[in-house]
Amino acid sequence: MLGSMMMRPLNIADILKFAAEIHPTGEVVSVRTEGDLHRQTYAEMALRVARLANALQAEGMQVGDRIATLAWNGYRHLELYYAISGAGGVCHTINPRLSAEQMTYIVTHAKDTMLFVDTTFVPLVNALRAQWPESLKVVVMTDRDHMPEGDFLCYEELLAAQSESFDWPELPEDTAAGLCYTSGTTGNPKGTLYTHRSTVLHAMTVGLSMPHVCQPGKRILPVVPLFHVNAWGLPFIALLTGASLVFPGGALDGASLFDLMENEDVYSAWGVPTVWLGLQGEMAKRGRMPHGLGDLVIGGSAAPASMITYFEENGVNVCHAWGMTEMSPVGTLGNLPVHLEDRTLEERVAIKSCQGRRIFGVDLKIVDEDGKRLPHDGEAAGELFVRGNNITAGYFENEEANAGAFDADGWFGTGDVATIDGHGYLTITDRAKDLIKSGGEWISSLDLENTVMAHPKVANCAVIAVAHPKWDERPLLVVVPGPDGTPEVSELMALLEEHFAKWQLPDDVVFVEELPMTATGKVSKLTLRKQFADHKLP
Ligand code: ADP
Repeated sequence: MLGSMMMRPLNIADILKFAAEIHPTGEVVSVRTEGDLHRQTYAEMALRVARLANALQAEGMQVGDRIATLAWNGYRHLELYYAISGAGGVCHTINPRLSAEQMTYIVTHAKDTMLFVDTTFVPLVNALRAQWPESLKVVVMTDRDHMPEGDFLCYEELLAAQSESFDWPELPEDTAAGLCYTSGTTGNPKGTLYTHRSTVLHAMTVGLSMPHVCQPGKRILPVVPLFHVNAWGLPFIALLTGASLVFPGGALDGASLFDLMENEDVYSAWGVPTVWLGLQGEMAKRGRMPHGLGDLVIGGSAAPASMITYFEENGVNVCHAWGMTEMSPVGTLGNLPVHLEDRTLEERVAIKSCQGRRIFGVDLKIVDEDGKRLPHDGEAAGELFVRGNNITAGYFENEEANAGAFDADGWFGTGDVATIDGHGYLTITDRAKDLIKSGGEWISSLDLENTVMAHPKVANCAVIAVAHPKWDERPLLVVVPGPDGTPEVSELMALLEEHFAKWQLPDDVVFVEELPMTATGKVSKLTLRKQFADHKLP
């Protein structure tokens, strides 16, 4: 028997309407490309978004059209998120750090009809535009005074010409709302096409899991970019829960972030470990934390235990998060349940070094090589598969990629190897392709890195596989020394020997000035492996 309750579709525009009415004083603060700081409330934002939606329709946007963005974290980018999807279009965020070839592939594959760019990226657009469809309209996200020369529309002029009321359509909740391509370390980038339903549900469940942060009066700094997986859902989570947003624009170095956090009273900041390494460096220089910082969400790659310890010691609650573009992206969150909050620092860090527990709506399973489920006992390690409301059911127009992505029961294969314990804590052992296969045994590069990061003279490190005639592969440790000098190899090995068996230890250590990064700010092990492909192990 069916129930008899109203069936109202979940629509992104409803989040905006809700914020304007219920959290009208929630604020969006942005470091602008124009060089100043901009502020507006959610009530003011809703009026500008209505103008923008009118402008998009006036420029010919139809339901389902892909409208691309190439922009930093700022209020205009946020306005685009709501105007495009609210009016039935698909907000296609492009990562400006992708290669020219990948970007052209993406714009062409997505069949974008319009592109909104920050002034910073105008030279990039000029360099590539000849390879893009001629019909693509390009709007520069600034006012008339800051417009570049060339065939561009001006964002503020488009808005000024329109009414600040817009009749938001009621869209079926499985209407496409957003599109994000993975950085595609192998092969072409693959697109995940989010729906209104997946976006709203993701925002609701992540907000629900972060009640200490997601509430009116709390100020959140998304360092995680709007151009990558919807900045982990923050554009929607903040408006839904009334928390304010502080956007850093393009200034992502430790000093700029420190000042912004302090001046804007940021309570919680979200980003990848590389960003927090920069902030840690700045804190060490100044000998203190930014006032008011109470919470840090670290995800995108493994947060080393030394980093978690550093922030927790300084009174900052660390939440270690795991997820993927294909998952909207949050899969697990590592906040401690209240009954564990009084544990010792060491115990808290041990728990928080895991990748956390699943959020509602995300099912996890680990399987062996034959696809057989493994127990959640914290010991058995296998490939991690996921299923849920916010998880892709197939890449955007890419049958080839879809062919190997799901198992027979429709679960999505993450490519990560993990254990899950009896309490639901997930530990990512490695990406399957980064595991080191030595003499038929697997060595986790993440575990080795985690230990090496604890050495005070190590700024960053990575462990990769190097081909070996006898053992197939052996680990090579690549280290970036910190400001206090280069650590001795013997010290690093002594540190590792405390935790690992002899056969798991790296065969060699090399020192480099920096590690290659992917477009999403993670260490690119693919590039490192190529770089050290001919490295002669002793
Ligand atoms: P891309 O790297 O192509 O941008 P994603 O951002 O979607 O793609 O990356 C997802 C992957 O990042 C996961 O499959 C996992 O390997 C890794 N990852 C994300 N968060 C964590 C974490 N907290 N610990 C370890 N690995 C993580």
